[in-house]
Amino acid sequence: ADIDRMTGFDRVTLQFYDETAPTYMASGQGGVSRHLVSFLATLPPRARILELGCGGGRDAQAMMAAGHNVDATDGSAAIALKAEAILGIPVRVMLFEQLEALAVYDAVWASASLLHVPRAGLPDVLARILRALKPGGLHHATYKGGGQEGHDKHGRYFNYLSEQQMIEMYLKSGPWNILATSAYTGGGYDDGARGPWVAITAQRPIWRE
Ligand code: SAM
Repeated sequence: ADIDRMTGFDRVTLQFYDETAPTYMASGQGGVSRHLVSFLATLPPRARILELGCGGGRDAQAMMAAGHNVDATDGSAAIALKAEAILGIPVRVMLFEQLEALAVYDAVWASASLLHVPRAGLPDVLARILRALKPGGLHHATYKGGGQEGHDKHGRYFNYLSEQQMIEMYLKSGPWNILATSAYTGGGYDDGARGPWVAITAQRPIWRE
């Protein structure tokens, strides 16, 4: 009901992050994303990486330590301030829906962040990511799985995609080369519970068909 149909983002979800920013812990709880090391191994040295929904900055910190040039962003001003303090670099306050960059990034990293984009708005956001990548650039994202959109007990919206629905969203949004998808069990659910997750690695084609 609180989904803003104009821009697609969910106000209640962002309010949750603004309010909990002082105590918000990254979903990885100490460790970086399980997908990060293998993803970074596929990038050129000193890659220009856009991070969408950087949260506490855990993954950005590891990407910077690996020598990459990270553009860390988050839609919550309070979260961005917290990440800035950890990273020591400016963290831009930007909604996914405001991404306007064209062909400037070697990679776009979105760990457990695009899962908050209402299904109706997701193809538009994915098309923005495609355009933001250089030809041949890589995108990685993880989503909570399930197959039916809904809200958690804090009122946060989740798109809860199945692996197949995730693939369909990407194919609907533009001419992605889908390199890999997976479904697995992970944490980040309420009360420390584990649950289904899905992940995707996709590339902006070098040649447009
Ligand atoms: N990437 C971090 C991680 O893996 O731990 C944080 C994940 S946290 C579950 C989701 C993040 O997405 C929050 O920091 C939140 O502020 C941000 N976010 C939610 N909706 C957003 C939107 N529409 N635009 C930009 N950021 C958003």
